[in-house]
Amino acid sequence: MSNFLRPRIAVVGSGPSGSILTALLADKGADVTLFNGGKRPEMIVGESGIPALVPVMRRLGIEEEVAAIAQHKPGATFAFGSESPIQLSFRSIEGILPAYSYNLPRPQFDQIIENRARRSKARWIEKEAGIILAQEGSGREVMFDDETLALVPEWEGRQPDLIVDATGRRRTVARLLKIPVKTGPRKDAAHFAHFTNWKHPGPPGQIVISRTVYGGWSWQIPLRDCMSVGVVVPGETLRAFGSTPEERLEAAIEKDPILSAAGADRQRISGVPIYSNYQLISDRSFGPGWAAVGDAFGFVDPMLSPGMWIALRSGECLADLINPDGPNDWDAMLRTYEDEMRHRLVSWQELIEKFYNGEMMAAYATGERFANSVFGPLFKVVNRHIDRHFASMCCGAYTEKPYSRKLLGFLCKNPRGFDPANYRIGA
Ligand SMILES: Cc1cc2nc3c(=O)[nH]c(=O)nc-3n(C[C@H](O)[C@H](O)[C@H](O)COP(=O)(O)OP(=O)(O)OC[C@H]3O[C@@H](n4cnc5c(N)ncnc54)[C@H](O)[C@@H]3O)c2cc1C
Repeated sequence: MSNFLRPRIAVVGSGPSGSILTALLADKGADVTLFNGGKRPEMIVGESGIPALVPVMRRLGIEEEVAAIAQHKPGATFAFGSESPIQLSFRSIEGILPAYSYNLPRPQFDQIIENRARRSKARWIEKEAGIILAQEGSGREVMFDDETLALVPEWEGRQPDLIVDATGRRRTVARLLKIPVKTGPRKDAAHFAHFTNWKHPGPPGQIVISRTVYGGWSWQIPLRDCMSVGVVVPGETLRAFGSTPEERLEAAIEKDPILSAAGADRQRISGVPIYSNYQLISDRSFGPGWAAVGDAFGFVDPMLSPGMWIALRSGECLADLINPDGPNDWDAMLRTYEDEMRHRLVSWQELIEKFYNGEMMAAYATGERFANSVFGPLFKVVNRHIDRHFASMCCGAYTEKPYSRKLLGFLCKNPRGFDPANYRIGA
């Protein structure tokens, strides 16, 4: 293959999605340049992983490094006030995915993936990239400004064949092109911090998701040396709790019986970062000369923790599709990428909606009650089947499977005595 067909790919952003894309493309021998936006904040939200992350870590060869800094995670507990907590163990997905995941201190985790990309043969530019609108008739929608172009002399003043927007929630290209978005119903604010002296009900590493009494939910994510505690609550509710993020988070903990009991002796050891929580998918993830990965394409919701995996999977998916030696039918290839990723985002959105409206947990509680009653061995087999599908959907293996989605839909419509309202989060 002649050299001029070799596509030049530029990745903008060294978060999880940009770093995995860069590493895998460089592994394939592609001509790839990464623009690194600079220093990471000391605290980054998104510390709970799902089991589907583990095969991605193994593919990158970083699981051992991650295991050394992360907290092993065996499952998740969901608490709904007066209802008994529901404990989900990853054991029920044995044979489908690794039956565990990790709780991850994000700056260190992101650094491990970034270092993996740095070890590959990518070109690394320690500068923010400037993306601007392209002139009409240029055959592309966006391009780099002259200053950015000059940072890569090997390009000889020419634009790369593909600019990948991995800038996370900045959504640089989508904003520039004013691409319409589909948004979900929730528009919350999230505050979180790290604490010591926090009581954890166990088992070790199990995350606890609980409904708060003021219309949102909270997370307790055990890290190796502290507990990450966050609340995801309508913005106006949180604003009424105080004038600073610290005051608001402390008040949110005090006002909620589950959090205030667990955190009675707490000591906060970090600042309180704040995030807006939205559910948003762009109508378009690519165009002539560009594509978007990770949050830059879509962000579903922190509930059930799929964000990082979706971001990593998007980088992985695009890397697998690009032919490093060219030629590439960009339009057809990027459409394949978008179809896969949109299907994934929409499937997660559907699952998360069933969680918020209480249907999923009501169906789960029904299954548990029947399993513990005297319905005989056949029912136990049926229940194990259902349990496996539920858990595999939450862990990222079956989230998109038509059969699992139908099964969940059917069970959600037939909760047999458990009222979804008892498990609903928010109004
Ligand atoms: C409240 C909340 C809770 C969450 N909890 C979880 C969770 O428990 N588990 C989970 O898996 N996910 C969670 N997430 C989601 C997760 O954090 C994100 O989905 C994930 O970080 C997305 O990765 P990314 O690579 O797309 O973007 P990012 O991690 O945002 O990376 C983007 C990078 O691009 C860089 N950049 C921006 N502009 C430029 C430029 N012009 N030039 C060069 N670089 C640039 C930035 O500096 C940054 O490093 C949560 C999110 C929120 C809001």
